[in-house]
Amino acid sequence: MIEAAGLNKYFSDFHVLRNIDLQVKSGERVVLCGPSGSGKSTLIRCLNGLELHQGGKLAVCGIALTNTRRSIDLVRRRTGMVFQNFNLFPHMTAVENCMIAPMRVRGLTREEARAVAETYLRRVHVEDQINKYPAQLSGGQQQRVAIARALAMSPDVMLFDEPTSALDPEMVGEVLDTMTEIASEGTTMICVTHEMGFARKIADRVVFMDAGAIVETAPPEEFFTQSRTPRAREFLSWVM
Ligand code: ATP
Ligand code: MG
Repeated sequence: MIEAAGLNKYFSDFHVLRNIDLQVKSGERVVLCGPSGSGKSTLIRCLNGLELHQGGKLAVCGIALTNTRRSIDLVRRRTGMVFQNFNLFPHMTAVENCMIAPMRVRGLTREEARAVAETYLRRVHVEDQINKYPAQLSGGQQQRVAIARALAMSPDVMLFDEPTSALDPEMVGEVLDTMTEIASEGTTMICVTHEMGFARKIADRVVFMDAGAIVETAPPEEFFTQSRTPRAREFLSWVM
C-alpha cells in the first residue's frame, strides 16, 4: 500500500527527512510517534503529496509519487487525511462538508453524495448533528465529521496527524473510540499520535522517529517494554 525507500526531504538547507524506509501493507495499522520536530507530520504529508520529497522513491496505492500534478491527484483520491485542527469548511454544514469531495472529485449527484455522507456520519455517531455548522459542534464532533468526510471518499488508506491533540480531554475518548472502530474494520491506517493506549490496542507496528529518521520499528508490546534506543525510552517516559 505504501512503499517508501530512501526518502529524503529538505526545507531549504534543513534536512527534515533522512533516508526513510517504510512499507505498509494493505490492512496494516501503523502508529507513528516521536518527539516534537522529529518529522512525523512532514512524513505523513509526503504520503499524500501535501509536501514534496526530494530524494528516494515513494509509491502509494501502487502509484509512484513523482511530484507531478497527475500523480499527486491520483494519490489524493486514494488517501483520506485527518488533521489536528479538523480543517472543516466553516461555511458548510457537517453533511455538506462530507458531500463536497464525492460530488466534485467522484462526480456523484447531490442525492448520491448526501446518501454517502449520511452513511459515514452515522458510522462516526454524529447522525443527529448533520445540519449544524462546524462552529456549532464540539471539538470531538468536529473531528468525527472530519473522519466521516475522509471516509466518504472510500480511501484505500487513512492518514491521521495527531487527531486528538487539539481536543479537550473529555473528548479524546470519543474520537479514539471511532478510530478504533475504523481500525477494527480492516482499514489501512497510519496514525501520528501520542495516545499510547490506543497504539497498544490497534497498532500492528509502532514506528518511532527522531531527528528526521526512523530509529525503531516494533510491535507495540515490544516497543513499550523493550525499546532498543535511549531516545525511544526517554520518549516513552514522557508519554506513558
Ligand atoms: P510535532 O510533534 O510538534 O507535530 P513533527 O514531528 O510533526 O512535530 P514536523 O512538523 O514534521 O515535526 O517538523 C519537522 C521539522 O521541520 C521541524 O524542525 C520543523 O520546524 C521543520 N518544518 C516543518 N515544516 C516546515 C516548513 N514548512 N518550513 C521549514 N521548516 C519546517
Ligand atoms: Mg506534527
